Amino acid sequence: MDSQRRVLTDGAVAIEGPKILAVGPHAEIEREYKGARRVSHPNSILIPGLINTHAHIPMSLLRGIADDKRLQDWLEKFIFPAEAANVTREFCYWGTMLGCLEMMLSGTTTYTDMYYFEEEIARATKLAGLRAVLGQTIIGFPVADAKTPTDSLARTEDFFKKFTNDPLITPAVAPHALYTNTRETLQNCRKLANQYNKPLIIHVSETKRENDDMIRQHGKSPVQVLNEWGIFDGLTVAAHVIWVDDADIATLARKKVGIAHCPSSNMKLASGIAPVLKQLAAGLHVGVGTDGPAGSNNDFHLIEEMDLAAKLAKVHAMDPEVLPAKTALEMATVHGAAILGMSDKIGSLEAGKLADMVFLRTDSPNVTPSFDPYSTIVYAAKAADVTDVYIHGELVVRASKPVRIKSAEILAQAHNYQKQIVLSLSKNK
Ligand SMILES: [Zn+2]
Repeated sequence: MDSQRRVLTDGAVAIEGPKILAVGPHAEIEREYKGARRVSHPNSILIPGLINTHAHIPMSLLRGIADDKRLQDWLEKFIFPAEAANVTREFCYWGTMLGCLEMMLSGTTTYTDMYYFEEEIARATKLAGLRAVLGQTIIGFPVADAKTPTDSLARTEDFFKKFTNDPLITPAVAPHALYTNTRETLQNCRKLANQYNKPLIIHVSETKRENDDMIRQHGKSPVQVLNEWGIFDGLTVAAHVIWVDDADIATLARKKVGIAHCPSSNMKLASGIAPVLKQLAAGLHVGVGTDGPAGSNNDFHLIEEMDLAAKLAKVHAMDPEVLPAKTALEMATVHGAAILGMSDKIGSLEAGKLADMVFLRTDSPNVTPSFDPYSTIVYAAKAADVTDVYIHGELVVRASKPVRIKSAEILAQAHNYQKQIVLSLSKNK
């Protein structure tokens, strides 16, 4: 995944501190660098760390709480009551730990979030050793960490200040959607993001109902309304972006809006099929995302999302040649980095970039034999084939085990939360 898309057999990477010094043939690197430590993985493919461009990480604790429901029923009858009764600082911390554990073990090195108490999410993420772009949610009703959007914006500004130059955390503002915020709130979010030079994360055109409602209310599609209000005037990550027409895609391309495509979520909630091929053809960067695990996915496995992104585009176009494996891997790496404004830092294995790298084993049955690495990575590999993960030059997963955090403690906490959540829902009835 370097700028020339080289595939090296018997390759090597030299790293120093958080950075990649060189990438090349093994013999060449061995000749030019005397490593203080050498690590050898002969039966592996080394890929850039995968980038999850849309998640709600603490919702890992609500995994599968209500499946096979309509989005509105799912939100109103299950998610909002469960969140109202359970989401606290500690919930966000432990939910993030669980999510980070799952993400790092499955090859994700950077993720993008939209939730509450993002400073707790940042704390847990740093302890786990992951990289993240964390969006403090702004929404037009009282939520766990704020009574009003004004309170949420004040929290966001504090969050920006606290993590302004953090090596792993990029704070962001995340107005939930056009239909859950006023014009004034959305514009204040944009202003704040630009003032601190941070990204804005928002759900856009996820459902047909959202589009129909906005057209009825404003006479225009969500993309056109957001554009007219200046919400795209700065780094923006738009999640889903399903119900868009050619004019919307042209607008998004002109404003260089990053797209987070979430195939599992879009299929499971029957939200629709995003016109990813048209978006890519228009020059948009399209990353992949898992969305939250409470009922719209239900895991954080990016290898699976790459696989589904390719297959969904093929069946949509009724053409197996579209969105090949290589493009799917590009979406989860270089495109992901681009939409987060981090192209100069992550997304590929190149000298000068940060050492976010994932080893996938090639000696398990499901990846043997391997004729083409792109095919192996996207269509055959599973999360369990991830063995070793480096983030910011540090080994955070060794032999499929986390290095910094303790699985047993995190899983025990998750079980405790499960009991508490069941109890809170029974009290609500
Ligand atoms: Zn979402």
